[in-house]
Amino acid sequence: MDEYDWLIVGAGYSGSVLAERIASQLDQKVLLVDKRDHIAGNAYDYRDDAGVLIHKYGPHIFHTNSKKVWEYLSEFTDWRYYFHEVLAIIEGKKVPIPFNFNSIQEVFPEALANKFENLLLDKFEFGKKIPILKLLNEEDKDLKLLADYIYKFVFKGYTSKQWGLNPDELDKSVTGRIPVYLSRDNRYFQDAYQAIPLNGYTAMFEQILDHPNITLVLNEDGIEYSKKISYHKMIYTGPIDEFFDNKFGPLPYRSLEFKYRTFEKFPFQERAQINYPNNFDFTRITEFAYLTGEFHGKSTIAIEYPKVYIPGVNDPYYPIPNKENEEKFKLYLNEAKKVKDKVIFLGRLADYKYYNMDQVVARALMTFETEILTEK
Ligand SMILES: Cc1cc2nc3c(=O)[nH]c(=O)nc-3n(C[C@H](O)[C@H](O)[C@H](O)COP(=O)(O)OP(=O)(O)OC[C@H]3O[C@@H](n4cnc5c(N)ncnc54)[C@H](O)[C@@H]3O)c2cc1C
Repeated sequence: MDEYDWLIVGAGYSGSVLAERIASQLDQKVLLVDKRDHIAGNAYDYRDDAGVLIHKYGPHIFHTNSKKVWEYLSEFTDWRYYFHEVLAIIEGKKVPIPFNFNSIQEVFPEALANKFENLLLDKFEFGKKIPILKLLNEEDKDLKLLADYIYKFVFKGYTSKQWGLNPDELDKSVTGRIPVYLSRDNRYFQDAYQAIPLNGYTAMFEQILDHPNITLVLNEDGIEYSKKISYHKMIYTGPIDEFFDNKFGPLPYRSLEFKYRTFEKFPFQERAQINYPNNFDFTRITEFAYLTGEFHGKSTIAIEYPKVYIPGVNDPYYPIPNKENEEKFKLYLNEAKKVKDKVIFLGRLADYKYYNMDQVVARALMTFETEILTEK
């Protein structure tokens, strides 16, 4: 029977970063297993039939304020510096998202737009992001009018489509996130570091995993595979409910379907991402060439349709954060605590939490420092 120090289930960021740390810093043997036929988890990118580099599980844009995360990943990739911009179609007009002063000028007559800007700046500091739900509770009737407009045309339709729920059925951590940005900065993110790996995410993961102490096995279920090998400890980055045979019932997720179209030339649309909050069944269209910088030749877009998650049929994408699901997750967390000497749980599926890529890298680096290095 093959012997390893570690069995790591899942070759996304969580599993791959920990495999790299253990292999390179502790000189221990790692078996990394993923049930898919590729590495990189949901950040996986590949060339489609037309030769265009596309993202299989939705468009991924790297952004972070963490110098530590940036420097860590920079060991494995060069970058293409990239500022993401998003427009939403509101009453037939294309307006910058997050909704900002330029958006206000776009949808309202000039005098009214100026009035809104002044009112906002009387109350809040320039450059701040004010959650739409906070504005809705304002007493000033003009600000309320503005908030009602944004709520109706930008927020409500998109949120209902995305989650299949009314906004008030969702946790504030989701709904509260959507801001009005008191600025003319049309970039979607404001982080210190914003970029796409120069040769793509999968190429970056190949570098992360390029170590003689790491053995990679694809197309295998990690839990089943654990029975065939001998190992000292497991790191599990899959769904926590599946690990415990769904004993408290499955944790609900929202899923997505991507429909791809390829065109003979770039561009199909005028920004990387266009949102459709109020029309059609899809939420957004992304054109990958903006992200990759491959502007010549054919161009592929992804049209994104939110879907109910059906285990075994489609993929779990977004945990649905509400009180009931959080309670159920806690039951699984208690089970995880009972086996903590044998298994470390982390990642978006094991923590039942939406993480951006930088957050999940930071979580993996921290886990290495506090739970693995200290045990040595
Ligand atoms: C549509 C969408 C768009 C996103 N866009 C961005 C973005 O623009 N910027 C950003 O920062 N973040 C983005 N994210 C978030 C990003 O995808 C996650 O932060 C990241 O993928 C989490 O990494 P992970 O390793 O925790 O999980 P995953 O990437 O999901 O990796 C888990 C892996 O475990 C494997 N696995 C599960 N169970 C088993 C098992 N039993 N046996 C073997 N293998 C198993 C899975 O196949 C998977 O490969 C986006 C997410 C979505 C859904």
